[in-house]
Amino acid sequence: MSKEIVVSGIRSTGYLHLGNYFGAMKNYVKMQDEYDCYFFVADYHSLTTHPDPKDLKANVFRVAAENIACGLDPEKVALYAQSDIPEIPELYLLLNMLAYKGELEKVPTFKDKVRQQPDNVNAGLLTYPVLMAADVLIHKAVKVPVGKDQEQHVEMARNFANRFNHRYGELFPEPQPFNFGSELIKVPSLDGTGKMSKSENLNATIYLADDDDLIRKKVMKAKTDSGPTEHNSEMPEYISNIFLLMHLVSRQETVETYRSMYNNCTIRYGDMKKQLAEDMVAFIAPIRDKAAALQADEDQLKKILKEGAIKARESASKTIAAARKQIGINYY
Ligand code: ADP
Repeated sequence: MSKEIVVSGIRSTGYLHLGNYFGAMKNYVKMQDEYDCYFFVADYHSLTTHPDPKDLKANVFRVAAENIACGLDPEKVALYAQSDIPEIPELYLLLNMLAYKGELEKVPTFKDKVRQQPDNVNAGLLTYPVLMAADVLIHKAVKVPVGKDQEQHVEMARNFANRFNHRYGELFPEPQPFNFGSELIKVPSLDGTGKMSKSENLNATIYLADDDDLIRKKVMKAKTDSGPTEHNSEMPEYISNIFLLMHLVSRQETVETYRSMYNNCTIRYGDMKKQLAEDMVAFIAPIRDKAAALQADEDQLKKILKEGAIKARESASKTIAAARKQIGINYY
């Protein structure tokens, strides 16, 4: 029986962080043995914010290296740069004819970007969900491991797939967002506002490249208060966020110990943050060191990305040929 197809990507817009790890990469690594996996560095998506051309290559190579450092095996998956697959922008163009301005304007991430960069509301930002749909549909993926923030984009990919199938005949399966846990996750930022991110909340995001002292400094600055005064009281969101982070990187007994101390009002947040910082350091240090070693070997990374592109184009070229034919672009 053929394996189910999985696609997911990470934008090369900065350093990867714990959100990318727990929302996306941890799942990639768990999926690589059981599924037919395509994972890519989303460098076209990064162009919406007009990065400096001289930074592009290092950013792409770093994202690839950090993925491998987290456990992704390029022998088992296709790991490639999005811009190496010309079939993706072709499918994007075809899907654009099935995407409507009104629905794209309503997407919350588009509205956020309009607020954040009012002087650069380019069409690429508006059609971001269409490019993401092309990324996923080009391999006919059924599972898309992503964080909570991408749920709606995957839903849009399903809509575009259905519209295509309805208009031109069955071609695409319906992709579903995926996480090994029961729910998609959102790793919160340390200041209690929003999520960890490559491009926002920099001081409240833990990056996989942060050195030990920087990790400690960021964790110790996380927002807390003087502690609960009533037994078993409800946690404010910024405190439950710290527990969530601890749950991700610490041992279960450690989390339980601090939870009981919270419930009987003996918790000292300073101690809890020190423990969390040490557990984060222990979690990140080996990933950081491996990623640095990989980045130093550019030839190896080039080889991996080129081989990944060959595997990805094999599948992409079949899909685009079928899409063209079904649309009627088969003249000769
Ligand atoms: P960013 O928002 O940091 O620029 P991307 O848009 O490149 O990250 O997303 C790459 C993957 O990481 C996506 O699957 C996204 O859902 C996931 N992701 C990003 N931030 C978080 C977060 N704070 N918590 C959980 N998943 C996240």
